[in-house]
Amino acid sequence: MKQEILGIAFDDITREEAARRGAELLGEDRFHYVVTPNPEFILAAERDPEFLRVLNGADLVLADGVGVLYSSKILGTPLKGRVPGIEFAEDMLACLDQMGGRLYLLGAKPGVAQEAGRRILERYPDITLCGTHDGYFKDEQAVLLEVAAARPDLLFVCLGAPKQEKWMARWGKHTGARLAIGLGGALDVMAGAVERAPESWRKLGLEWAYRLKKEPQRAGRMAKLPLVLVKAAGERMRSGRGRR
Ligand code: UDP
Repeated sequence: MKQEILGIAFDDITREEAARRGAELLGEDRFHYVVTPNPEFILAAERDPEFLRVLNGADLVLADGVGVLYSSKILGTPLKGRVPGIEFAEDMLACLDQMGGRLYLLGAKPGVAQEAGRRILERYPDITLCGTHDGYFKDEQAVLLEVAAARPDLLFVCLGAPKQEKWMARWGKHTGARLAIGLGGALDVMAGAVERAPESWRKLGLEWAYRLKKEPQRAGRMAKLPLVLVKAAGERMRSGRGRR
């Protein structure tokens, strides 16, 4: 079931349900793409109709982060939970490992995708890493040809938003992949270059605070996030859902 939050139609599903749906998509013989919007995406999509269209055109729209969850609560239509992109990616790696499938990693600074790939193969030995490419390229079509020549089943696209979503929507079907996922900084985490918040912080919904502590330069970006909650409150007042 879909649940709209400030213009974006999120899938209202748990991590387990998302993993099952992802496995189905990975089993179907055509291209699908998955997006993992956080509050920054919601704000960006308000000013970028193409980005909004691309997000709503995805096969799965997962709520990445507590900001989206809080917004859904404020709107009076709470989502079942959040599904962090990196956790969905892990579930898809486990699924690909079972299939003995092919993985391509696109994005991040030079060398990061190779290191992420090396670590992934340590944990999932039945995956074939069919290629990697850094995310700082000019010629989109040349990269597409490289990806397609590698014949991946699963493709991680980690170019930051909205670049990664627009890349998937524009070129994805020409890659031959069955499933592409837009994953932001996930390759940096998988390569060990950036640390994910410990579980104790994650359980409290404080992953954002941990990230801010580790990367204080993100403060400017993150300061905009409460705006999403304010917009959600305004929307609820306007729609009268507050009276339910
Ligand atoms: N990136 C890239 N190409 C670009 C811009 C960014 O490959 O032109 C990478 C960047 O190196 C990082 C990721 O995209 O690995 C985006 O990370 P960010 O922290 O912005 O994403 P978030 O995790 O917040 O979604």
